[in-house]
Amino acid sequence: MHDWNRALRQRLLQDPARLPHALLLSGPPGIGKQSFAMAIAHRLLCATPGSDGEPCGQCQGCHWFAQGTHPDLHRIEPEVDEETGKQRPEIRIEQVRDLVDFFALTAHQRGWRMAVIAPAERLNTAAANGLLKTLEEPPPRSLLILISHHPRRLPATVRSRCQQVAMPIPSRSEALDWLAAQSVPADQAANLLDEAGGAPLLALALHGDAARSDRRARCLTALAGVRPEALLDLAAAKEFLIETHGWLRRWLHDLISQALTGQVHFFSTHHADLQRLAARADLARLFALQSRLDSDARILTHPLNATLVMEGWFMDYMDCFRVSS
Ligand SMILES: [Zn+2]
Repeated sequence: MHDWNRALRQRLLQDPARLPHALLLSGPPGIGKQSFAMAIAHRLLCATPGSDGEPCGQCQGCHWFAQGTHPDLHRIEPEVDEETGKQRPEIRIEQVRDLVDFFALTAHQRGWRMAVIAPAERLNTAAANGLLKTLEEPPPRSLLILISHHPRRLPATVRSRCQQVAMPIPSRSEALDWLAAQSVPADQAANLLDEAGGAPLLALALHGDAARSDRRARCLTALAGVRPEALLDLAAAKEFLIETHGWLRRWLHDLISQALTGQVHFFSTHHADLQRLAARADLARLFALQSRLDSDARILTHPLNATLVMEGWFMDYMDCFRVSS
């Protein structure tokens, strides 16, 4: 678990007997929601936690937890389709049925039974409905944690039965300290953090993942150049739909911000490009593209055709700069 979440865990676990039966952890990607959920699980599954509230690391529960084989912890995420080798877009009812069966069993350690569902917004309708009975009549000493970047996409029936916890975004200095501890060079950390919208895990991923950081560089160059070939080339890489959405969204944010206030938030390294582009952009079109991106956020996990979706964005983007010519 990350330091910026420690106080929250302590608050929630002060009296485990008074924990709600279901938590919905929400917040942007890259702030440590998953590891927070696992830290709660670890603490509850430890038989003899220390006086500081940390798991002992010695008991059978801690041993199983460390091996990733604790029988009283059940995790659900979208399955990998064996034929395509890709993750399915949805969490299916069969997975939720397994979860209901799991909660019907007696805990192995006579302790807690826990389940973590992530990302919860990918529960399909049948799966979400299948969860309702467990949410309404939870067995004693059970805790279900749902994790979501987009809690409003969950059915209200599910949302209203969980205690919602908005996960904190760490302060800039906490995030930079953490990135330094992960060996991200100080001269790159601040820019990566800005580009990741303040989410330190995302900043680390940008630093460590060659494919993603290459994609980022190509995206920013193409957006700065507004050249059709480069932009349509980006659209061809279907697997980067979600990242591309993120880059374009932040880029637009900075363009609009530059046009209105003369300041940028995410891409200070590209300030000169943003100034040049903002001076010749049609602001109304930038706003229109921004709302298109907002509404397209809903289809990102199961688009009909990722390339067509991205091409649409980039055509609109190029149109933003055509007024003066
Ligand atoms: Zn333990």
